[in-house]
Amino acid sequence: MIMTEKTDLAIRRIRQDIRSTHAYAIQDSAGMVKLDAMENPHRLPQDLQEKLGQRLGALAFNRYPDGRLNDLRHALAAYAGMPEGFDIMLGNGSDELISLLALACAVPPSAANDFKPASVLAPVPGFVMYAMSAQLQGLAFHGVPLTADFELDEVAMLSAIAQHKPSITYLAYPNNPTANLWDDAVIEHIILAAGEQGGLVVMDEAYQPFSSKSYIDRLARHSHVLLLRTLSKFGLAGVRLGYMIGPQALIAEIDKVRPPYNISVLNCECALFALENKQVFAAQAIDLRAQRAMLLEALANLPGVQAYPSDANMILLRVADAQKTFEGMKSHQVLVKNVSKMHPLLVNCLRLTVGTADENRLMLTALNESL
Ligand SMILES: *Cc1c(COP(=O)(O)O)cnc(C)c1O
Repeated sequence: MIMTEKTDLAIRRIRQDIRSTHAYAIQDSAGMVKLDAMENPHRLPQDLQEKLGQRLGALAFNRYPDGRLNDLRHALAAYAGMPEGFDIMLGNGSDELISLLALACAVPPSAANDFKPASVLAPVPGFVMYAMSAQLQGLAFHGVPLTADFELDEVAMLSAIAQHKPSITYLAYPNNPTANLWDDAVIEHIILAAGEQGGLVVMDEAYQPFSSKSYIDRLARHSHVLLLRTLSKFGLAGVRLGYMIGPQALIAEIDKVRPPYNISVLNCECALFALENKQVFAAQAIDLRAQRAMLLEALANLPGVQAYPSDANMILLRVADAQKTFEGMKSHQVLVKNVSKMHPLLVNCLRLTVGTADENRLMLTALNESL
């Protein structure tokens, strides 16, 4: 396709800050053992594939999504144990909910906010979408570095909250890419401080199926905290279904910026089907947690590798030369994520997804030969 002068002119109407950023890069994974994106490696069992196929085939594709979405909202609320007085909204993946939160909070600078843009605050290194969604909506992003062992820096967090008065504070529990949970007392202090200055806090529990803890039992203590979850790491990354639980009045406001038909009838029916068969996914999560324990033990015995503790289906490693090890593993057809350039705290770090027993064996061999 030839770029004409008119295309060129039209491109200049696109925001300069967007033109000068790079698109989110998805690595080519054809023919590889894919351990780069925290996907559940297990497919749906054959009998369930057939049942789901029949259900999807019988859907009314000619209609817009309807009340069936309320069935899904109720099923997810029950699954998560949503407290009384709270509500739930659905997103096309939790990525969409993160974008909608930024959109809803993007207040233009005015006298009321000292002519500063509204802001988003999160510990770094963390999930890249928090910063990206803020930037795209014209909010400032304040990343507060974790400590060298990837714990929350309480003093730095509290002082950044006091200084920037963020509209949204994100805490991923457990965090991506470090895979750890943070100290509960520190989390509570941050939540209180964020609430004191009138901000909201999002507890992002994308890795809940693999975590030893959840914030759900503490959610009802506060009226400014939202719990963000997704079915992606649970086992439905291709389906795109995220959900957010929070105080009714708060969810009602954020829900106003949601596109009316953001969840397709296909996403909806797949998610309902998965919840009806949740024991299958629970068994997969148990298997992955056992695989994680096996991997952590194997990695602890591998000279030249430091593996960090994990409450997720990923493990963060530090090696002598991340680029060399990453490329070496790739030449063994094993794809992981090189996160070493993401943040100075992650120098020479790789992040790998916990796979099946076979995949993990191949990964360990590839790693061993690439150090
Ligand atoms: C993977 C991930 C998500 C996004 O998941 P979706 O697939 O968009 O639902 C959100 N938060 C964290 C911390 C993640 O790692």
